[in-house]
Amino acid sequence: MDAMDCSKLYAEDVFTIKTMRNFLSAKANLSLMDTIIKRTNLDPAIADEVADAMKTWALSKGATHFTHWFQPLTGATAEKHDAFIGPDREGGCIMQFSGKELIQGEPDASSFPSGGLRATFEARGYTAWDPTSPAFIKRGPKGSTLCIPTVFCSYSGEALDEKAPLLRSMEALSKQVCRLARHFGIETTGKRAYVTMGPEQEYFLIDKRFYESRLDLLQTGRTLFGRQPAKHQQMEDHYFSAIKPRILAFMEDLDRQLWQLGIPAKTRHNEVCPAQFEIAPVFEELSLAVDHNMLTMEVLRNVAEEHGLVCLLHEKPFAGVNGSGKHNNWSVVGPHGRNWLTPGDDPHENAEFLTMICALMKAIDAHATLLRASVASAGNDHRLGANEAPPAIMSIFLGDQLTDVIEQIEKGTPKSSKKGGIIKIGVTSLPLLPRDATDRNRTSPFAFTGNKFEFRAVGSSHNCSAANTLLNTIVADALDEICTELEAAVAAGKEFNTTLQSILQKIVKKHKRILFNGDNYTDEWKAEAAKRGLPNLTSTPEALKSFIAPQTIKLFEKHGVLSRRELESRYKTFLEAYETIIIVEANCANTIAKTMIIPVAIKYQNELAAYITSVEKTLAKTNSKESKKLLKDISEQVEAALKASRAIEAGVEKGNIEKILKTMSDLRSTVDTLEDLLPKDQWPLASYAEMMFIM
Ligand code: ADP
Ligand code: MG
Repeated sequence: MDAMDCSKLYAEDVFTIKTMRNFLSAKANLSLMDTIIKRTNLDPAIADEVADAMKTWALSKGATHFTHWFQPLTGATAEKHDAFIGPDREGGCIMQFSGKELIQGEPDASSFPSGGLRATFEARGYTAWDPTSPAFIKRGPKGSTLCIPTVFCSYSGEALDEKAPLLRSMEALSKQVCRLARHFGIETTGKRAYVTMGPEQEYFLIDKRFYESRLDLLQTGRTLFGRQPAKHQQMEDHYFSAIKPRILAFMEDLDRQLWQLGIPAKTRHNEVCPAQFEIAPVFEELSLAVDHNMLTMEVLRNVAEEHGLVCLLHEKPFAGVNGSGKHNNWSVVGPHGRNWLTPGDDPHENAEFLTMICALMKAIDAHATLLRASVASAGNDHRLGANEAPPAIMSIFLGDQLTDVIEQIEKGTPKSSKKGGIIKIGVTSLPLLPRDATDRNRTSPFAFTGNKFEFRAVGSSHNCSAANTLLNTIVADALDEICTELEAAVAAGKEFNTTLQSILQKIVKKHKRILFNGDNYTDEWKAEAAKRGLPNLTSTPEALKSFIAPQTIKLFEKHGVLSRRELESRYKTFLEAYETIIIVEANCANTIAKTMIIPVAIKYQNELAAYITSVEKTLAKTNSKESKKLLKDISEQVEAALKASRAIEAGVEKGNIEKILKTMSDLRSTVDTLEDLLPKDQWPLASYAEMMFIM
């Protein structure tokens, strides 16, 4: 495929703004553009025309069906297809798609988790068109489907999905950013601020035949057993190495399919662990970036399948080596169209920039547990704090130079600011901040990387909405408090720059404990963080509790992002999902041990015992001490495995999650020991070495 083809392919399957123009009247087009760009309410009068345009376009792409595409709280996307077809009463048919069908759907999706939000009498869920995310075509093997991005809510309008709160949080943040912007003399009438996001997505690929030999991968997406091979990622020789032809073919197909969907896939490379890779797109406006990431995960899985591979998106498919995450690159564009996290050229712009940095410090420090909760899941619990993954302790990396600036703000009072070395807000120019990658700290969960923050604790399988909804809301709240204080002082006749300076100084003094530029992977940091009073919530149930803390409810209700009932429903849903995953994993581990591993071990013990007897019978003076020791080792492990298996059953019976986790780990350690004692040709599971290296 040459470069020409590739640009022609781009967004071929998307009902883009450009495409829309060819299918809509000028009037409808203008009105819809206002909704998409300025976020005005959709004019219902144009719905029929837009639906008809979409239908005509979709039919030209071979579509037979349409679907409202949404993101329930399961972490996946959902769709229910309807054919365009309707009988015409003359024995033929017409292709129908009305404005009503475009705007609202009633998928009757009563089986999705609602955490108690929907009683049975109001079990219906409704989907509502999100015109800000373009409709697209999903191609199937024999036809295609028009997909309409939607939000999913209950009869009374309560959010049942990830997208509704994300959109609300974007509005809340825009409101506060515009409020701050006005203080800096930036025009905001008819304008809005928005978040840009670029998710770097990590994933594993393994050959399908190995995947199919492993019940644990099939059922839980991760290996519940597996001994570490002699060589895995120690030499870091996979990272950025030449991409093998089979994988490159996969990546080429992947990029092509993503481009066709208008997803700007940009970077591809081998990651640290063998069999681990990464894909990163060009950043986009937040909610579109999230939609595109959800689609990217789907396309990753499908293209892998086409290549006889399986894409593992679990946060920790293999123990003892790197897990996978998403690096959620986040920034804010102001109503003036400028990235607010870019240090500016003049003191005025620097004041804007530093205010946002301080707002972020305030937000992350005040709500560290919530930020942790937004990335809590059974899968991510294995990753956070393990190999090359950020810890569960939230902190911010600013780099040396920006830290220095922040320290100067802390020291400086407006009075003493005439002395050298102290930043005077609105007056002093900033030193040039380095923008290249060399200065970056890969160990920080929340790192400033030149013109954006990179939140690295998001799990590879997660919908990034939750993390971003939270980020937007806590930053909106910090800006709200800053603006309130500024406005009161200015109203009382105080000078703007001096007031802002003292507000920022107070913030730095109070929240500087959240700054950490050192190595986040070390035990020293754990100790230091504890000294600073920074929370370290290592398990999901602990972290999730902050969803229903009184201050969380107050925060989310204040900004109109989530109500108490919505927060409670999320808490219940996520906790239940967590417990269900643990129980499924426990039962699966137990089945593998009892029906696959232990029988092999017993058979081999018999073979060994028979061998020892026959050797001793044949050779009078032989010494089979070591063979007997091997037999004894195996038999001890089998007993330990049987014991752990029984303990798992008791734990499951009682629903005791902590006990289950402990006994699963006991079982794993005996099974992994057995893997080293039993013949390879009898071992029923593909090994770590095979999965990581044979491709
Ligand atoms: P790295 O951080 O690995 O050096 P890049 O700086 O190229 O890589 O960016 C990684 C991701 O961050 C990409 O998806 C990129 O589009 C995204 N990104 C870059 N600038 C911004 C921004 N202003 N806002 C949001 N995401 C951004
Ligand atoms: Mg990065």
